[in-house]
Amino acid sequence: MRQIENVVHKRYICQRKYRRRKKRLHRLARHLFPVSAFLFATIVCMVAFMPSGDKTVDPPAADVPASNESIQNSPPQSASDPSVASEPIAAGTWKLVLVNPWNPLPENYTVQTVTLQNGLQVDERCYPDLQAMMDACRADGLTPVICSAYRTQEVQESLYQQEVGRYLDKGYDQDAAEAEAGKSVAVPGTSEHQLGLAVDIVDIDHQLLDESQENTEVQKWLMAHSWEYGFILRYPTGKSEITGIIYEPWHYRYVGRDDAKQIHALGVCLEEYLAD
Ligand SMILES: [Zn+2]
Repeated sequence: MRQIENVVHKRYICQRKYRRRKKRLHRLARHLFPVSAFLFATIVCMVAFMPSGDKTVDPPAADVPASNESIQNSPPQSASDPSVASEPIAAGTWKLVLVNPWNPLPENYTVQTVTLQNGLQVDERCYPDLQAMMDACRADGLTPVICSAYRTQEVQESLYQQEVGRYLDKGYDQDAAEAEAGKSVAVPGTSEHQLGLAVDIVDIDHQLLDESQENTEVQKWLMAHSWEYGFILRYPTGKSEITGIIYEPWHYRYVGRDDAKQIHALGVCLEEYLAD
């Protein structure tokens, strides 16, 4: 009998402990709820204000630093997996690395970037020429704005999925949505922005990434002069079948001054130039 009483007593103690623990958990959950809500809101804001894709320019971007302003050097970044040791591309060929829907980023590609004043990054090797081009454009009374530059695999993935979602919303099935999205936002792993050698530049008074961009004074200037600074209009009109990307009168790719001069003179796109 005594044993039974002991068992009953122990069970009673356990139930009290259980109830107390439950109450404590409820209290804790009540306290943690505002913290979780705040963290969730912060993450949503961070995602909403990530660098934009090739469709809209959001948020408005600042310029590159003035020539004599300091820039921050960033450690090499791997475009695929930062933990994997890099296989550097042979010296001299980095400027002409071909990345398109049929040629993904080289495996373990790494890039040493510099951070521009607006927080965007570019391969440090193209920075001096990019700065010279921006300075020259401004000296002619114009206001170019770099709205997109180096992108990580994660950022490209996010932009691509947004674009796929846009087509799914229009009623496309998954395969068709992915195919259409890939024409304006490169499939992750096949974007030149992941090289750190591509920049999207718009006119401060017309920050739209569509064909109307070609009519801005900034684009007219860049189309006439970018080659002098080693940049080419990478996706020209009439070359979409070869590049796999729609006409983008805002996307410039660094190839170095010598090759940019020849590409401009020949009137070819990078794929045609490299095929010769
Ligand atoms: Zn671009």
